[in-house]
Amino acid sequence: MNKPALHNLRQRAAQAEPETRSFIRKLSKKKKHRLDEQVHELHEQAFSQFSCLDCANCCKSISPIIYERDIDRIARHLQMKPSAFTEKYLKVDDEGDYVFRQTPCPFLMPGNYCSIYPKRPRSCRDYPHTNRKNYHQILDLAVRDTYICPVVFEIMEELKKSQL
Ligand code: SF4
Ligand code: SF4
Repeated sequence: MNKPALHNLRQRAAQAEPETRSFIRKLSKKKKHRLDEQVHELHEQAFSQFSCLDCANCCKSISPIIYERDIDRIARHLQMKPSAFTEKYLKVDDEGDYVFRQTPCPFLMPGNYCSIYPKRPRSCRDYPHTNRKNYHQILDLAVRDTYICPVVFEIMEELKKSQL
Protein backbone atom coordinates (compact mmCIF):
# COMPACT_ATOMS: atom_id res chain seq x y z
CA MET A 1 0.00 0.00 0.00
CA ASN A 2 1.26 3.51 -0.80
CA LYS A 3 1.66 5.76 2.19
CA PRO A 4 -1.43 8.01 2.42
CA ALA A 5 -0.66 11.62 1.48
CA LEU A 6 -2.66 14.83 1.24
CA HIS A 7 -0.62 16.16 -1.65
CA ASN A 8 -2.88 16.78 -4.71
CA LEU A 9 -5.53 14.53 -3.19
CA ARG A 10 -8.49 16.14 -4.95
CA GLN A 11 -6.77 15.92 -8.30
CA ARG A 12 -5.76 12.29 -7.77
CA ALA A 13 -9.24 11.37 -6.57
CA ALA A 14 -10.86 13.01 -9.60
CA GLN A 15 -8.50 11.16 -11.90
CA ALA A 16 -9.22 7.85 -10.18
CA GLU A 17 -13.00 8.29 -9.84
CA PRO A 18 -14.19 6.74 -13.13
CA GLU A 19 -12.15 3.58 -12.46
CA THR A 20 -13.28 3.55 -8.81
CA ARG A 21 -16.95 3.78 -9.82
CA SER A 22 -16.56 1.07 -12.42
CA PHE A 23 -14.85 -1.17 -9.83
CA ILE A 24 -17.75 -0.64 -7.42
CA ARG A 25 -20.36 -1.30 -10.12
CA LYS A 26 -18.74 -4.60 -11.01
CA LEU A 27 -18.47 -5.90 -7.44
CA SER A 28 -20.61 -9.01 -7.10
CA LYS A 29 -22.84 -9.53 -4.08
CA LYS A 30 -20.48 -12.22 -2.83
CA LYS A 31 -17.45 -9.94 -3.13
CA LYS A 32 -19.27 -7.09 -1.42
CA HIS A 33 -19.90 -9.28 1.58
CA ARG A 34 -16.23 -10.22 1.76
CA LEU A 35 -15.15 -6.55 1.70
CA ASP A 36 -15.07 -5.86 5.46
CA GLU A 37 -12.16 -8.12 6.30
CA GLN A 38 -9.98 -6.60 3.62
CA VAL A 39 -10.99 -3.00 4.35
CA HIS A 40 -10.36 -3.44 8.08
CA GLU A 41 -6.90 -4.84 7.39
CA LEU A 42 -6.11 -1.95 5.04
CA HIS A 43 -7.43 0.50 7.65
CA GLU A 44 -4.89 -0.82 10.19
CA GLN A 45 -2.12 -0.72 7.61
CA ALA A 46 -2.91 2.85 6.50
CA PHE A 47 -3.19 4.29 10.01
CA SER A 48 0.05 2.61 11.04
CA GLN A 49 1.78 4.74 8.39
CA PHE A 50 -0.19 7.97 8.63
CA SER A 51 -1.39 10.11 11.52
CA CYS A 52 -4.54 12.21 11.50
CA LEU A 53 -2.46 14.89 13.25
CA ASP A 54 -0.59 15.34 9.97
CA CYS A 55 -3.85 15.85 8.13
CA ALA A 56 -7.12 17.00 9.75
CA ASN A 57 -8.52 17.43 6.26
CA CYS A 58 -11.92 16.13 7.38
CA CYS A 59 -12.04 18.69 10.22
CA LYS A 60 -11.02 21.42 7.78
CA SER A 61 -13.34 20.64 4.91
CA ILE A 62 -16.53 18.85 6.00
CA SER A 63 -18.71 19.03 9.08
CA PRO A 64 -19.82 15.97 11.00
CA ILE A 65 -23.52 15.50 11.69
CA ILE A 66 -24.11 16.52 15.31
CA TYR A 67 -26.72 14.50 17.18
CA GLU A 68 -28.68 15.56 20.28
CA ARG A 69 -26.51 13.37 22.48
CA ASP A 70 -23.39 15.06 21.09
CA ILE A 71 -24.90 18.47 21.84
CA ASP A 72 -25.68 17.54 25.44
CA ARG A 73 -22.27 15.99 26.05
CA ILE A 74 -20.20 18.76 24.46
CA ALA A 75 -22.29 21.56 25.97
CA ARG A 76 -21.84 20.03 29.43
CA HIS A 77 -18.10 19.78 28.81
CA LEU A 78 -17.99 23.45 27.80
CA GLN A 79 -20.25 24.40 30.71
CA MET A 80 -22.81 25.82 28.33
CA LYS A 81 -26.52 25.25 27.98
CA PRO A 82 -27.32 22.98 25.02
CA SER A 83 -29.41 25.79 23.51
CA ALA A 84 -26.53 28.27 23.80
CA PHE A 85 -24.12 25.74 22.29
CA THR A 86 -26.52 25.12 19.40
CA GLU A 87 -26.97 28.81 18.77
CA LYS A 88 -23.27 29.56 18.86
CA TYR A 89 -21.85 26.64 16.89
CA LEU A 90 -24.52 24.84 14.87
CA LYS A 91 -26.78 25.25 11.87
CA VAL A 92 -29.25 22.95 10.13
CA ASP A 93 -28.07 21.64 6.75
CA ASP A 94 -30.11 20.84 3.62
CA GLU A 95 -30.90 17.35 4.94
CA GLY A 96 -32.25 18.75 8.22
CA ASP A 97 -29.23 17.66 10.31
CA TYR A 98 -27.26 19.78 12.73
CA VAL A 99 -23.73 20.53 11.50
CA PHE A 100 -21.09 23.05 12.56
CA ARG A 101 -21.75 26.56 11.31
CA GLN A 102 -18.25 26.87 9.97
CA THR A 103 -15.45 24.87 8.43
CA PRO A 104 -12.69 24.43 9.51
CA CYS A 105 -14.31 23.14 12.67
CA PRO A 106 -14.30 25.72 15.51
CA PHE A 107 -12.70 23.12 17.81
CA LEU A 108 -9.72 22.45 15.56
CA MET A 109 -6.58 23.80 17.23
CA PRO A 110 -3.06 24.54 15.98
CA GLY A 111 -1.16 21.33 15.34
CA ASN A 112 -4.44 19.75 14.18
CA TYR A 113 -5.51 18.94 17.73
CA CYS A 114 -9.19 18.71 18.60
CA SER A 115 -9.93 20.74 21.71
CA ILE A 116 -12.91 18.53 22.61
CA TYR A 117 -11.34 15.23 21.54
CA PRO A 118 -12.64 12.99 24.38
CA LYS A 119 -16.12 14.47 23.95
CA ARG A 120 -16.09 14.89 20.16
CA PRO A 121 -19.21 14.09 18.09
CA ARG A 122 -19.93 10.47 17.32
CA SER A 123 -19.54 11.18 13.59
CA CYS A 124 -15.98 12.36 14.20
CA ARG A 125 -15.17 9.13 16.02
CA ASP A 126 -16.64 7.05 13.21
CA TYR A 127 -14.93 8.89 10.34
CA PRO A 128 -13.59 7.70 7.88
CA HIS A 129 -15.76 4.59 8.47
CA THR A 130 -13.09 2.18 7.22
CA ASN A 131 -13.34 0.01 10.32
CA ARG A 132 -17.12 -0.28 10.37
CA LYS A 133 -19.21 -3.31 9.44
CA ASN A 134 -20.93 -3.62 6.07
CA TYR A 135 -18.63 -1.24 4.25
CA HIS A 136 -20.35 -2.21 1.00
CA GLN A 137 -23.37 -0.21 2.16
CA ILE A 138 -21.46 3.08 2.05
CA LEU A 139 -19.41 2.69 -1.13
CA ASP A 140 -20.93 5.82 -2.70
CA LEU A 141 -19.94 7.81 0.36
CA ALA A 142 -16.49 6.23 0.15
CA VAL A 143 -16.06 7.66 -3.36
CA ARG A 144 -16.77 11.15 -1.97
CA ASP A 145 -14.33 10.46 0.85
CA THR A 146 -11.50 9.64 -1.56
CA TYR A 147 -11.47 13.43 -2.20
CA ILE A 148 -11.18 14.25 1.50
CA CYS A 149 -9.37 11.45 3.30
CA PRO A 150 -6.02 10.16 2.04
CA VAL A 151 -6.58 6.91 3.93
CA VAL A 152 -9.84 6.21 2.11
CA PHE A 153 -8.15 7.06 -1.18
CA GLU A 154 -5.35 4.53 -0.63
CA ILE A 155 -7.70 1.85 0.64
CA MET A 156 -9.79 2.21 -2.49
CA GLU A 157 -6.69 2.05 -4.68
CA GLU A 158 -5.61 -1.17 -2.94
CA LEU A 159 -9.05 -2.72 -3.32
CA LYS A 160 -9.01 -1.94 -7.02
CA LYS A 161 -5.57 -3.48 -7.40
CA SER A 162 -6.56 -6.65 -5.61
CA GLN A 163 -9.82 -6.94 -7.61
CA LEU A 164 -10.86 -9.09 -4.66
S1 SF4 B 1 -9.71 10.69 9.10
FE1 SF4 B 1 -8.77 10.91 7.10
S2 SF4 B 1 -9.16 13.06 6.49
FE2 SF4 B 1 -9.53 12.89 8.68
S3 SF4 B 1 -7.60 13.50 9.61
FE3 SF4 B 1 -7.59 11.25 9.49
S4 SF4 B 1 -6.57 10.80 7.55
FE4 SF4 B 1 -7.15 12.96 7.49
S1 SF4 C 1 -14.96 18.16 16.78
FE1 SF4 C 1 -12.78 17.67 16.74
S2 SF4 C 1 -12.63 15.80 15.50
FE2 SF4 C 1 -14.64 16.69 15.11
S3 SF4 C 1 -14.39 18.00 13.27
FE3 SF4 C 1 -14.04 19.28 15.10
S4 SF4 C 1 -11.83 19.25 15.43
FE4 SF4 C 1 -12.34 17.52 14.10
